Amino acid sequence: MVKAVYPGSFDPVTNGHIDIIKRAARICDTLTVSVLNNKSKSPLFSVDERVNMLKDVCSELENVHIDSFSGLLADYVRENDINMVVRGLRAITDFEYELQMAQTNRKLVPFADTVFLTTSLEYAYLSSTTVREVASYGGDISQFVPDSIAKLIYDKLRQEH
Ligand code: ADP
Repeated sequence: MVKAVYPGSFDPVTNGHIDIIKRAARICDTLTVSVLNNKSKSPLFSVDERVNMLKDVCSELENVHIDSFSGLLADYVRENDINMVVRGLRAITDFEYELQMAQTNRKLVPFADTVFLTTSLEYAYLSSTTVREVASYGGDISQFVPDSIAKLIYDKLRQEH
């Protein structure tokens, strides 16, 4: 049985992430999308808000579950009997960091492999950072995130000002 995790910040979830989630869900038995509680970053959305956004956009995907974790991905993988880690690759700039992380994780948890899904071309440019930036200047993010998420982003940015 292939039990996979797709870890990330998802601050916020974008159409690029959703594309990876749907494609990953087809090649594993269960997929847990898990929000990393990274204390060194100051996120726009809290972990709970990000979990709820993911639950909303993944509600139709039967084998997809949403969770969060803090600390090492390797520990989370071991504790949850996960045997596949999914990551997305957009461009060569993602590659060096992703390769280093995959190799480190393989040393720490040899029974789990990292599988990379390459971005669909229409999302190759898309990142949570650009979505936050465009939205912060009032730009149109409707092509980048689902409508329900766009609304939450604008509401959050309004609260911050
Ligand atoms: P991080 O974990 O690097 O803080 P994110 O939450 O932005 O990042 O992304 C989680 C994973 O999704 C990473 O593997 C990242 O490369 C991938 N990803 C992000 N945006 C896209 C996209 N547009 N297409 C494909 N993969 C993506």
